[in-house]
Amino acid sequence: METDKKKILEVKNLKTYFYTEEGVVKAVDGVSFNMYEDEVLGLVGETGCGKSVTALSILQLVRAPGEIEEGEVIFKNVDLLTLKKKKMRDYRGKDITMIFQDPLNSLNPVMTVGTQVKEVFELHQREEIYELLDQKMLEWKNKQNRIKELEKKLEDNETNQRLTKEEISDIKNEIEKLEEETRDRPTYRSILREKSRKILEEVGIPDPEEILERYPHELSGGMRQRVMISMALSCNPSILIADEPTTALDVTIQAQILDLMKDLKNEYKTSVLMITHDLGVIAEICDRVAVMYSGNIVEYATATNLFKNPRHPYTKGLISAIPTLDKKKKELDTIRGSVPNLIYPPEGCRFHPRCDYRLEVCDKVRPLLTQIGESYFVACHLFDPQYKDSPKYEWGKEELERTRKI
Ligand code: SF4
Repeated sequence: METDKKKILEVKNLKTYFYTEEGVVKAVDGVSFNMYEDEVLGLVGETGCGKSVTALSILQLVRAPGEIEEGEVIFKNVDLLTLKKKKMRDYRGKDITMIFQDPLNSLNPVMTVGTQVKEVFELHQREEIYELLDQKMLEWKNKQNRIKELEKKLEDNETNQRLTKEEISDIKNEIEKLEEETRDRPTYRSILREKSRKILEEVGIPDPEEILERYPHELSGGMRQRVMISMALSCNPSILIADEPTTALDVTIQAQILDLMKDLKNEYKTSVLMITHDLGVIAEICDRVAVMYSGNIVEYATATNLFKNPRHPYTKGLISAIPTLDKKKKELDTIRGSVPNLIYPPEGCRFHPRCDYRLEVCDKVRPLLTQIGESYFVACHLFDPQYKDSPKYEWGKEELERTRKI
């Protein structure tokens, strides 16, 4: 049991490979995790560990030469990986949506922000907009009728003189107010514009009317990311996948965007899959974390427990490599060696060539993700009753030199 919340997405044994001239890159190799309503799940790991490919696979957005080889992605009792492209489009953007690191690449440079935001509404909410239009038209007509009614009252008063001065003044004020409110007849386009203006306002964009007329290159990085977030949330999706949404931004803007995402998550009740290499972002916003290494999840726990007591040697390495003010050392802790080649990944535990805690069994048997505590899962032989007491690996001098910590 991971949490009491309702499960909304289940990723089971996902495998996505890339068929390159050099060989098969096993970018995602048996990833499983769940997402629950109203939570932020972090997927963290070094560049190339497969976290972005995992996200793209969920939405069937993996491009050739990549192929989803195996697995299931269950959303609302449907395995998304079995859907045809056209059917998948019904889910993409509406139920599950994604924002990327560089919004400039995601936004169309030759279209104004307004055109692009409106396009999202038109694509996913055409029916709702027409319903709203009917409702607005009814209100508009009722107000018009009321104006006529009031004008008639004034006209009748010319002959019967029944109204007091105050009553006449009140009627005139009401007519003026109603005329102001009905000056523009509601149209499909006016509703679209109003919705676009409102959503920009909700993501904290000052002067949304003006921003709707601007082109993406005329906005700052933070503002562009806000526009992307507004577009992603415009359809009130169940899940927002955010792929390194703050990496390209200045530190202060990063903090603002994270605060915004927290607020919007609470307001829209959208679950967020936060993909990042930055443990600071995880600590700031995530409820639970899945640590990825070389195409696999190696540790999976609540953010609080993971930071308090990381178990997997890779996670320990990542956390101890974070620079903090109280670390007096001149050199930062690092993890020995480098990220493995995913065409020829190491046998057994993929982290074994870099692991200071390595056991003799580690290069022979692949550790499986196993529950070791409440909501705590880890894939490491150190926590497997079958192997935890097996002999420690003796590093050779040459080997240590080759994988020296830099
Ligand atoms: S399984 Fe072995 S090599 Fe892998 S992380 Fe655990 S101790 Fe290290």
